[in-house]
Amino acid sequence: MLNGSTIAVRGENMSRHRWKLYGAVTSAALLAYQLIPESAWWKAAWQVAVGYGAVAAVLVGAHRLAPGQRAPWWCFAAGLFGNVSGIAVAIYSAEVLHVDESPTVADPLFLTLYPACALGVALLLKRREPRRNWAAMVDAGTFAVGLGVLAWVYVIAPAAHSPDTTLLARMVSIAYPVGDLLLLAMLTRLLRSGGTRGSAFWWIAASCGAFFVGDTAWVVLNNLGVDINGLQVVNRGMDMIFLTAYSLFGVAALHPSARELDQAGAGAAPRLSLPMLASLAAATLIAPVLLGMQLVTNTLADGLAIVLASAVLFLLVVTRMAQLVREVERQAAKVQTLSRQDELTGLPNRRAWNDDIPRALKQAQASGAPVVVAMIDLDHFKKFNDTFGHPAGDRLLVEACSAWRGSLRAVDTLARFGGEEFIALLPGVTAGEAATILRRTLEVTPLGQTFSAGFACWDGTETAGELIARADAALYRAKEAGRNRVVAAEPIAEPRVPRGDGALVG
Ligand code: GH3
Ligand code: MG
Ligand code: MG
Repeated sequence: MLNGSTIAVRGENMSRHRWKLYGAVTSAALLAYQLIPESAWWKAAWQVAVGYGAVAAVLVGAHRLAPGQRAPWWCFAAGLFGNVSGIAVAIYSAEVLHVDESPTVADPLFLTLYPACALGVALLLKRREPRRNWAAMVDAGTFAVGLGVLAWVYVIAPAAHSPDTTLLARMVSIAYPVGDLLLLAMLTRLLRSGGTRGSAFWWIAASCGAFFVGDTAWVVLNNLGVDINGLQVVNRGMDMIFLTAYSLFGVAALHPSARELDQAGAGAAPRLSLPMLASLAAATLIAPVLLGMQLVTNTLADGLAIVLASAVLFLLVVTRMAQLVREVERQAAKVQTLSRQDELTGLPNRRAWNDDIPRALKQAQASGAPVVVAMIDLDHFKKFNDTFGHPAGDRLLVEACSAWRGSLRAVDTLARFGGEEFIALLPGVTAGEAATILRRTLEVTPLGQTFSAGFACWDGTETAGELIARADAALYRAKEAGRNRVVAAEPIAEPRVPRGDGALVG
């Protein structure tokens, strides 16, 4: 007997494996494409079947997702549908209507792929990246402008200046490379985005990449004078690239990881990897290389376009550099703050103290004002921990620091020296005033706890280490004397600046 939940689980399992079934069927269809007769009708029918199959897969995949996640997939489905329909319309107008001058009604259909996919990726990115990823945008701009120069020189400018076609035809032939540049920019944005990177992510990237590679190969072969339609191997190979690109969208949509595709993930954008850096460098070098080639071969024709593109590329590189420098500065400031701060209490830590104390003594020396250093140690803290637990001990440390901070003056420094030991710098006070401040501070220790403190007045010449050692010795005596008290340090053996701070203040 199958009950409802068993059926639901089986249905869920089936839908988890649907991408494999689709992948197997579509792979078989792609392989079979190499074997079908060399007839325009056969080929178009096969392409349209694979293409609409991919559209169906994307729609089925999108349907499984939460309603808020579907929009990008609808865009992908619409782009694929338009592109595939272009194939059907093209074969009909060529074989039935015998229309073969470009552009045809098929062109706008082919072209829908680019804005629709770009919009799909943009919608995905919007969900994947809570904050705008400026670095990825600059990288995308660098690729688009770098390869844009190439497209300009070899496709756009020749098409724009072509004397024997109509304005519409020229605009359509320019629209293809522009669409490709848009796709390339969005692919870069996707690859440079933070967020999860499951299989669906890579399949979408591969699909966009395949469309770009297919279109680029077409342009390159055309420019090299290869007869693409005449050579069966070349033309079926090219078709395979586009059929693979369709199918990858289908696989991506059906794969379980499509559910996580729009999630922000760990947040951090990926590292600027060596291949990515090399690609960015290559993209920025295209313009000068083209200029060099035209100069050397005495065929300078696109000087202004190359200069403009180079200027934009320089600005993009400088922008990227500025972004990186800002980022490094931000991180350095953060590391600096973290490295000087005690994690638990938020007080300056021992490193910060060690950094700051020589400066404080120098200031005191310059101004002639007295300075007191006090060592403070919680009494029987181990017992407190043992009785109430370590977390309660942590809370006591936090609360005690906050209370002590409130009792000390704003000019005083309190730092965590280690464990339950603290150190304070009290500028501008005499021994008597220091004792008063410290006793007042002892009284505000929370949860009925106490501390012992030893303090020493700086003699004007001793090192920070010597001063602290005297305060520490006084602390030791405070503990010896029964804790819960404030003790002044012994005067140094031969006081260089006599100040009479030897009394037990207790
Ligand atoms: P005394 O009065 O002689 O200073 O006794 P005491 O128990 O305070 O001193 P002792 O040095 O024997 O123990 C210090 C304890 O402080 C031991 C250690 O587990 C605890 N301690 C140090 N750092 C932390 C901390 O960050 N959190 C907590 N909860 N305990 C800490
Ligand atoms: Mg202690
Ligand atoms: Mg201690």
